[in-house]
Amino acid sequence: MVNYLRTNLCLAAVLAICVVLGANQAARAQTPGVTAPPLNQFYQQLERTIISGRAIAYLAMLSPSLAAQPSARQFVRRNILAGVTNVTIKELGRLPLSDVPEGQGYAVLLEVFREQRLAGNVATWLLNVRRDIDPLTGQSFRDGPEWRIVGQQRLTQVGGLFRLELHPERQYIVRNLTISTTDLTLTLPQGMAFVADTGQGITALVLQGEGEMDFTPTTSVEQGQLRLFSGDETLRTTFTSAFIRVNPSDFDALVPQQALMERTVGMRDYERAQEVFDQYAPESYLVDIGDLSAEAWWVLPNERDLLIELDTPHYDQLTYVKSDRKAEDIQLFDREGKRNISVYASSEKLLTRGRFYSEDDLIDYDIENYDLDVMFLPRRDWVEGRATLAMRAVRDLSLFSIRLADELAVESVTAEGVGRLFPIRTPGQNTMILNLPESISAGDEVTLTIDYRGELPAEAVDHQSIVPRNLSLLDSSRFVHPTIRSGPQPHYLYSSRSFWYPQSLVTDFAPATIRITVPPDFEAVASGHRSGAPRELYGEESEGMPDGSKEYVFEAEQPIRYLAALMSGFVQVASEKVQLPMSAITSKQNRIALSVEANPRQRRAARSLSERAKAILSFYTSLIGDVPYESLTVALVESELPGGHSPAHISMINEPMQASNLLWRRDPVYFMDAPDFFLAHELAHQWWGQAVGWNNYHEQWLSEGFAQYFAALHARHSQGDDVFRGIMRQMREWAMQQSDQGPVYLGYRLGHIQGDRRIFRALVYNKGAMVLRMLHRLLGDEVFFQGVRRFYTDRQYQKAGTEDLRVAFEQVSSIPLTRFFDRYIHSTGLPDLAFTYRVETVPDTEGASVVKLRFEQRTDELYDVPVTVRLRYTTGGSQNVVVSVTDRVTEVRVPLAGSLSRVDVNRDFEALARIVDKN
Ligand SMILES: [Zn+2]
Repeated sequence: MVNYLRTNLCLAAVLAICVVLGANQAARAQTPGVTAPPLNQFYQQLERTIISGRAIAYLAMLSPSLAAQPSARQFVRRNILAGVTNVTIKELGRLPLSDVPEGQGYAVLLEVFREQRLAGNVATWLLNVRRDIDPLTGQSFRDGPEWRIVGQQRLTQVGGLFRLELHPERQYIVRNLTISTTDLTLTLPQGMAFVADTGQGITALVLQGEGEMDFTPTTSVEQGQLRLFSGDETLRTTFTSAFIRVNPSDFDALVPQQALMERTVGMRDYERAQEVFDQYAPESYLVDIGDLSAEAWWVLPNERDLLIELDTPHYDQLTYVKSDRKAEDIQLFDREGKRNISVYASSEKLLTRGRFYSEDDLIDYDIENYDLDVMFLPRRDWVEGRATLAMRAVRDLSLFSIRLADELAVESVTAEGVGRLFPIRTPGQNTMILNLPESISAGDEVTLTIDYRGELPAEAVDHQSIVPRNLSLLDSSRFVHPTIRSGPQPHYLYSSRSFWYPQSLVTDFAPATIRITVPPDFEAVASGHRSGAPRELYGEESEGMPDGSKEYVFEAEQPIRYLAALMSGFVQVASEKVQLPMSAITSKQNRIALSVEANPRQRRAARSLSERAKAILSFYTSLIGDVPYESLTVALVESELPGGHSPAHISMINEPMQASNLLWRRDPVYFMDAPDFFLAHELAHQWWGQAVGWNNYHEQWLSEGFAQYFAALHARHSQGDDVFRGIMRQMREWAMQQSDQGPVYLGYRLGHIQGDRRIFRALVYNKGAMVLRMLHRLLGDEVFFQGVRRFYTDRQYQKAGTEDLRVAFEQVSSIPLTRFFDRYIHSTGLPDLAFTYRVETVPDTEGASVVKLRFEQRTDELYDVPVTVRLRYTTGGSQNVVVSVTDRVTEVRVPLAGSLSRVDVNRDFEALARIVDKN
């Protein structure tokens, strides 16, 4: 009993060392113990023993006293199994055992990959080995192997890996096969089938022959999107081959057995099926276990999940995916065009989760703090870093995923107090799967340290910004490019799209410390407040970076949604502490440390930026009452196209080269008469989009609509009503024109199928802003800004949805707003109004008259829409009346101040409605 305890203590001590080992440079683990004696023979012996599956052979490798312990037998029962066909052992690292003569004892951390025919499993084992004495008896080893195991522990194990191959001896003739799943039916009157079997059942099926697919999404919104793709609300088309992945336990229910008849294999049929298999199998559920195996390995789809790849003559390759765990469980994807055609929740899913969702609903853990230490060699796209993530389990956790770009190799993953974890990468998914040796409970914390490096290109401007990567103007701007004398100075942005640091599968608010090292000719800006001047590194300190490289430290004390780093040649144009209006919420003094950095050639253009930014920040703070982040760097970079990107603490503004401006003018979000509009939009993202995030892609309008509306309010504040009117006119025009493309709630998917990002901007930006404008007018100034502040304070440093916005405004106004948001955000329709007016004399007065303004809604559904009517008098004066149209017929009577010469309706363009003037 005493001995048993001592063994465990010893392991615990080794585990603690192991953490240090894991966190130490990965280089050490890669080339273990140059001077240490080789353990190759020991490992070969261990491999042979594991393959033999004989407990007695394994026990012979232990020290006699360890072999005698019950724990040893338990280890054998769990880890030495029959039927192992292949084993690979890889040493991850080793440390000398303390109090053991040099070269006589080590703690070795091993990856043990075992295959049982087509199934595989990876475990990490921690073994203490000695070649001198048995530590428990003090007796030296005499006979048998040189090295003995004196302590052992399995740290992690990941099973469920499979090698897939089409069964070379099984072919089926298909007769009248029908495969039905949610909203999709495949029929194949006659053809061939081949299968891949894991030993636990069939997981892959290849069908060949002329079949038909029939796909009909359930909602009218999705049917509308499908029509944009195929011209019809149902996609009915032929296919020539299909590749299906399914969990073996679901196979029989999905594929009716009577439609398959086994026959002798035709080689040519097999080869053709093999081609289909080779094309599609690597596209999904493939995992990467590094150099542990030369074979390709897959995991099984979860139960109830399904993937179908179809070759169709009309639409190339279509992929249907059913993923039960996702909030939107049905997806139809066009592989060739890389487009999501349909993404939605099935009727069954809606029953369980309700109408709205947050991407946070499915997370397994919450990141509570980021600590990053990253070296960049921007010109070589090189990223090398260490990330320390403090995580808290949201549910009981053992297996979980971390997002990281596929391009970045993981050198090591260490969990504090646990030791090294073995990452399984999932190619094409930008994720790694990690397994904790013992599951932790909801609420428990775990700190992960991840070392990683690789070639990862910087991002083009993000989708959150005004000009996305696939802007349709790109080609024509290249055409005019030759007029630019020298190209723009390059800048390198790593932000929310490149997965340049380990992160959650969803955006996750947390404070952060970011240490960034860049070569001497670069400057860096990152999410956070820069603490002091950069430190120059020389000699050993520069660690593989050129001498004189600079190390920056940025601290983000308030939670930020994601981390960003921007590198270029910058000069600092301004830096000051700015006093902003007092907080209306906490009555604290709002301040921000504002600095402006610019590419040297843009120095002059940047000079006024500081004053302009101050004015905008001040205006916003007066409206919202708060500033979310204590510092902001406005970075002016050169670029061929205008654009911007605004992570927390940063507003990157692309100063376009002249030629592209001409093309930019036809964009829905370019406002020629409001030169600060764009800057104002980007700055507003510190509040909208950063401090208040969005629940999922559907809610992106909260970020873009608010940024756009606040920029418009700033234009009115600084430039007056005429400029504001011009902005409204343009926003309305685009929103009216594109509204039938889908509801604002579709987010990035607007214009996605057509490949026209202007549709996205017209609706998510402009229609979103117009909706807020109408709400503002329905509620009035005071209540509207009360609602804005309520919403902002409720959702600060969190995600938000349209429902949160509705509730905040309903609380301050006591006006029900469900219909308002349903119509404008969740539907495609717009109000259609008939307007008439009539002058009436008021009885019992001496000639006093009123004008009766009458609006009738001509659509089946009723809307809430405020409309401005302008009464013009013969004297030249005029009067504006705002009519809140909410019923089928709305009539208001307005006393006249003279004799009317004209009545105009919606001349301020603030009503997002078709209005027919029937006078
Ligand atoms: Zn934006």
